[in-house]
Amino acid sequence: MKTINDYNFKGKKALVRVDFNVPLDSSFKITDDTRIRAAIPTIQKVLSGGGSVILMSHLGRPKKGPEEASSLKHVRGRVEELLGVPVKFAADCTGEPARTAAAGLQPGEVLLLENLRFHPEEEKGDETFARELASLGDLWINDAFGTAHRAHASTAIIAHFFPDDKLFGLLMMNEIDSVDKVMLHPERPFTAIMGGSKVSSKINIIMNLLDKVDNLILGGGMVYTFMKALGGNIGTSVSEDDKLELARNIMDAAREKGVNLIISHQTVAGDSFSNEANTRIVDPMHIPDGWMGMDIGPATRETFARAIEASSTILWNGPVGVFEFPNFSAGTKAVADAIVKATANGAFSLIGGGDSVAAINQFGLEDKVSYVSTGGGALLEYIEGTELPGIAAIRG
Ligand code: AMP
Repeated sequence: MKTINDYNFKGKKALVRVDFNVPLDSSFKITDDTRIRAAIPTIQKVLSGGGSVILMSHLGRPKKGPEEASSLKHVRGRVEELLGVPVKFAADCTGEPARTAAAGLQPGEVLLLENLRFHPEEEKGDETFARELASLGDLWINDAFGTAHRAHASTAIIAHFFPDDKLFGLLMMNEIDSVDKVMLHPERPFTAIMGGSKVSSKINIIMNLLDKVDNLILGGGMVYTFMKALGGNIGTSVSEDDKLELARNIMDAAREKGVNLIISHQTVAGDSFSNEANTRIVDPMHIPDGWMGMDIGPATRETFARAIEASSTILWNGPVGVFEFPNFSAGTKAVADAIVKATANGAFSLIGGGDSVAAINQFGLEDKVSYVSTGGGALLEYIEGTELPGIAAIRG
């Protein structure tokens, strides 16, 4: 398989699928450019190798064709600033505007195509649409890990037209390497920390992890489903009453597989779902009526930190409390601090999947862990053990 590091880009037009799906405010200003910055190394790699770049991406969820709020023209200026070269713009990703702009592209130049999802064929994985996109370039690079779990025209189907000229971008390579390091050849002990509100959304991941980890730490709202399954009183805490059997199965499976299951044993309870709620430190098996579990207590913070700090590989997905409320963020902060400490001592730490990324950024600790995934849903599916279409398209 060819890689971006040994491909000869000289005189070639590289079609690069990036994830520029960035948040915009009401005046279409970018509020977080992380995803754009993450794509820059791949673009620079092609340009410095003597090629030109045609960028394609989606933005937002346009359902009825072109719309101002989802136009990639709002992103063009930021890409120019970060790259330090002018970026041309085609007002449609296919048809005459795209063909003309692509045909005139010279080595060292960059062209950004308008939002792929202005055409419903993109999400349908339409072959004809993919062929049209493919006709614009000489090779295809997939650097959009965030959409790698979708078999869309530009993320997977387009690969049919580049049997020998399809590559992972540098961001994709980093994402895949990081997950593989954790899931395929972890240094031990390997500890996974799972949080978030619901066990149902994490069940496949937890089951897959039970075959791999030494320690599985469970925090967050999902803990109360386990406590209820064990016969506890959980007050008004979140719980999924149809998942009690599942919680018991997880506990049994952990025991059978010799996994050290560490479930929160002390809770900060609140008397309402609010930052201003009155609080009490309680046993999660005995939460008083009218109170709900909102964070892990100080004793659990210590237990979790001890296990994390003794680990050589760490995977963290999901906050262990309602970290959006400052008064209930101490548990999640303690987890982040322990991961930072372990990383400083040589552990490999991967943070990913939605809210744990928001949490690590909120604490300003994103540079003190080994890898923060840009993936979200794609990362979670990869950890579940699913082969992602955007990865299979290149490997296959
Ligand atoms: P998820 O998307 O499943 O990872 O869940 C993330 C959400 O879980 C965050 O918004 C947290 O506020 C929430 N969460 C964490 N702990 C609790 C808890 N004890 N009770 C209710 N929600 C929680």
